[in-house]
Formats: sequence, C-alpha cells, structure tokens
Amino acid sequence: MIKKSVYELLKSDGLLPQEVQVKGWVRTFRSNRFIALNDGSTIHNIQCVIDFESTTEETLKRINTGAAIAIKGNLTESQGKGQTVEIQVSEIEILGDSNPDAYPIQPKKHSLEFLRENAHLRVRTNTFSAIMRVRSKLSFAVHQYFQENGFNYVHTPIITGTDAEGAGEMFRVTNFKDNEAPVNEEGEIDFTKDFFGKETNLTVSGQLEAETFAMALGKAYTFGPTFRAENSNTTRHLAEFWMIEPEVAFMDLEGNMDLAEDFIKCVLKSILKSCKDDLAFLDQRLTQEEKSKPQAERSDMSLIEKLRFVADNNFKRISYTEAIDILRNSKPNKKKKFQFPIHEWGADLQSEHERFLVEKHFKCPLILFDYPADIKAFYMRLNEDGKTVRAMDVLFPGIGEIVGGAQREERYDVLVEKMKKMNIDEKELWWYLDLRKFGTAVHSGFGLGFERLVQFTTGMNNIRDVIPFPRTPQNADF
Ligand code: ATP
Ligand code: MN
Repeated sequence: MIKKSVYELLKSDGLLPQEVQVKGWVRTFRSNRFIALNDGSTIHNIQCVIDFESTTEETLKRINTGAAIAIKGNLTESQGKGQTVEIQVSEIEILGDSNPDAYPIQPKKHSLEFLRENAHLRVRTNTFSAIMRVRSKLSFAVHQYFQENGFNYVHTPIITGTDAEGAGEMFRVTNFKDNEAPVNEEGEIDFTKDFFGKETNLTVSGQLEAETFAMALGKAYTFGPTFRAENSNTTRHLAEFWMIEPEVAFMDLEGNMDLAEDFIKCVLKSILKSCKDDLAFLDQRLTQEEKSKPQAERSDMSLIEKLRFVADNNFKRISYTEAIDILRNSKPNKKKKFQFPIHEWGADLQSEHERFLVEKHFKCPLILFDYPADIKAFYMRLNEDGKTVRAMDVLFPGIGEIVGGAQREERYDVLVEKMKKMNIDEKELWWYLDLRKFGTAVHSGFGLGFERLVQFTTGMNNIRDVIPFPRTPQNADF
C-alpha cells in the first residue's frame, strides 16, 4: 500500500484503482458518508467515501471538522461531481479528535479579523494555507533568482551596534534586569556595563553590512528579519518583517532599477507557474471581496491578470521632479483632496501621492528616482546638481512603496561631509567609511519588504495576513 499526500493522490488518475494510505485533517463530513480530507499539500481536498461495513457508529461520531485521521482505501475514479478521484475507505483511524463545539475553525466563512485572533489555526483554512504556500514558494524564488545570477547570500547580524542605519525607530537589546540599569555620572544609562559593552538594538536593515560583502564578493544579498519600533498601525507596516537586500559593486542607479524590475518580474513569473492552484483560489477570493466594494473602487483586473500585467510590462520610470509636477497639477491637488497638499519641490511624498501616481495617473508600477537629498538617507549618492540624490523607490498598485534603494555615496569626502550635516557619528561608522578609503567603487542596492511582495502576489489587503504571526503595536501573541 502506498502512502501518499493529497496532492499526489489527486494527480494519480490513469493508475487506478490503487490501494492507498493518507493522513490529514477533516475539513467537512457530510451525509455520514463523505469526508473532505486536507493535508496541506494542496488547496484541494480528497473525497473519502465511507464504507459502512468497515466503520463503527462510535468512529462516525468522531469524524469531526479539524480531527486528524488516517485513511486506507482504494483510490478510484470518482462517481460524483467536483472531483476526478476519490478514496473508497476500507479502514479509518482517528488520530486526534476535534471537539466540534469548541473548534474555532468551522466549515463556514470566517472574517479575517477573527482568524487573526486564531493565527495558530488559521493556516488550516483555504485562504491562509494558500497564502502560506505562496509565501514559501516566493521565498524559494527569491533565493533562486539571486543564486542563479551570481549573488552570494549573506547573513547580516540581527543585533546591531549602530543606530545610524536611519531607517526607523529601533528595539533595544539589553541584559540589564528590571530597574537595575547602572547610570553614569551624567545620569545616563551606562551601556559599557551591558552585555555587549555598548548600546545594541535589533537591526532595521542589513544594508550597511551587506555593502561590505558587495565590496568583496561583488554581488551579495540578504534575506532576513528586520525590526522597526514605529507606531504605525497601517495595513502595510509590521514591527517585524523580512527584507530582501541585494547590494552590487560596480553597478549604478540605472543598473539598480533594472535589477529591481527584473527581480520582481522573475519571481512573479515563477509563482505564476509554481502556484497555479493557490493563485486560482486567491484570484476567486479577491474577486468575491471586490464585489462588496463600490463600483468605482473595484479593480478592473483580476489577481492573476494583475500579476501577468506586472510580469510582462515595463515599469514606468520618472524623476521625483517630474512626479512633483504631475502631482502639483493633478485634480486632487487642485481640488484640495490630498491630506498633504503638494506646494513645492522638496516635499516628501505621502502614500496618497504615491498611490495617485501609480493607480490613477500611470496605472502601472512606477520607479521614482533622483529624490531631494534632504528627505533621504545619508549614504545615497549626491548628484551633480548638489540637491538631489541617486535614490529610487518602486511603487506598486494597492501597496505603495515596495522597494527603496539607491546608488551609494562612494566618495569619502562627500560622505563624511554628509554625515556631519546629518549629525551621524563618524567614529561609530568607521568601518563603513573604510569601504570608501580602500578600493572604493560605484555600487548600489535596494531593500524590498518581503511581506509587501507577498501581499501583492496574494492580493491580500492587510500585511498582517501574509506573515504567520504578525508583530504589531500591542500585539505579540503566539
Ligand atoms: P514606508 O515609507 O512604506 O514606511 P520606508 O521608506 O520606511 O517605507 P525603507 O526603509 O526604504 O522603507 O525599507 C525598504 C522596504 O522595506 C520598503 O520599500 C518596504 O517594502 C519595506 N518596509 C519598510 N518598513 C516596513 C514595515 N514596517 N513593515 C513591512 N515592510 C516594510
Ligand atoms: Mn517607514
């Protein structure tokens, strides 16, 4: 007898009938006869048809939604509608009971909010199992893309001793016990007595360390957890998220934009191939959800159409300055519809502006480049105009910023000057400055929030629904 996953069983037409064995969880049980069994290997269930002679009344009562069972039987062509094969059960064993009155995941539609509160069980639903399988395949596609293109995977530290990364508020890492942090003569906490002998935090980005690898191995990338203690309760921010950060020597901003675009297109194409069933399900789900929106807000493309569109069309590229002109003259700006009206060059773009450009004006992914130096990080390369830097953001429909990157400042003097202006301690970043002293060269890279990519790929509106156990303000359950 062959032990198989549901995925394998559903693909095995042609070799029937066949004695098989399978284990999984009961999704539904109807008419005391038909079990829909799922083992997580696919979005689809296998139908198991009970043979009364081999089953006791006692066992029948224990076939409840959520129960773990083992089935032996004959895999045959299905008589009924809706499936090609089914198992004629000869033996059934209850491995783990599930009390139907207490099990939270009933065979009905649950709200995403309710499922978030039951995150330990939500992956047993169609929606979340599909999302998490896509997430897994996506992370594989990320590695595959970089590995096939000569990049080295670098594990940058999670505990960092620099607070100059500048990407956001940080979580402190300390070994001081409650109320026992020693203070120095100035009355400040004396971190020299802490575990690392200095103040340490959870990293907000692996970029600075990844640059050291790019300047030795040529092409490097990180893909790991990052932490931001920002109190932003949005559908696009987590306190703990996974970031992908390639960094490449001898590559300028042009090359950086090409890399970001090619990378995103390639991983989407890979998912369109490897996750057909899950995407078909998520496509349906999104279409249903869209129906509850007012006509004007509905997307005119289905999920799969959107993914194809992005994978097959060039991203639009415009400078920050061009974007400001478009925004300044836009209808919502003139009619004072923006919460933050655009008056002049130099304004930081808010999510409402980014979404206007992507969703209303260009209707395609957009790369903005050459931002004002004042609104971007210290390490971005200054342009000849002296007021803009070689920064780029990739903006996506429904998501907003998905990538933030730049050509890095490779000139020692310019970088030091910039750090002084922005009050960044040179001593602390001595090693980063060393890269500009010894064999410096043009180099570039970007950061892509993995969850935002998963959001786009699965069509999920809230970032909390694309990571197994979301960490957000006031929430670290599970
Ligand atoms: P945003 O303006 O959306 O807050 P950011 O400018 O802070 O983004 P970067 O510091 O450039 O973002 O980080 C690179 C990428 O990491 C972003 O483009 C985004 O995809 C992702 N990202 C940033 N902050 C978060 C967060 N709190 N949760 C999830 N992803 C994030
Ligand atoms: Mn941010």
